Amino acid sequence: MSDANEEKPNNFVQWRHAPASQWIYCPLCREPLLNHTWDGRERRYCPHCGFVYWERALPAVAVLVFEPSRKEILLVTRRYPPFVGGLTFPGGGIELGESVADAAVREVEEETGLVVSLDRQFGTWSTPSNDTIITFFRGHPIGGQLQAGTDAQEARFYPWEEAPSLAFSLHNMVLQLFRMEMRMTIPTS
Ligand SMILES: [Zn+2]
Repeated sequence: MSDANEEKPNNFVQWRHAPASQWIYCPLCREPLLNHTWDGRERRYCPHCGFVYWERALPAVAVLVFEPSRKEILLVTRRYPPFVGGLTFPGGGIELGESVADAAVREVEEETGLVVSLDRQFGTWSTPSNDTIITFFRGHPIGGQLQAGTDAQEARFYPWEEAPSLAFSLHNMVLQLFRMEMRMTIPTS
């Protein structure tokens, strides 16, 4: 469990590495890096030890946690940039050695205190910048206690039809898809 009072320093390390073009020295043997083209793209590589900086899109997860009896969706208010104070679905990066489903469950618990059961994948999309790939799940709470975690200012449920706009355009698009799906599956009367 994470400590809810844990604060990240102001100079918190960038979530993403600097672009490869800014890498000067090999992180393994300290020799100057050179450019070489692999697969049609120029990569930074070390002629001394063979290190290559492969730039990849980062995999992430987010969960549409739906509370079926109250018909509410769980959203968190962001504590850290970008979009401090903006609303998103709970989620985050996938740790090395962790399955995509395990990451989804972990991130929800870290950010909201709730333990969820995943119902199914909702879809996988790239962010508009194409530097992150987010797999969205549908899930429902099965335990825990609702409480904003380290990365969230607030975690709370919103009526699924009235949830406000979300900070990221991709999350917003997924929210619209979720609403369309709900309207097709739940009688409105
Ligand atoms: Zn090297």
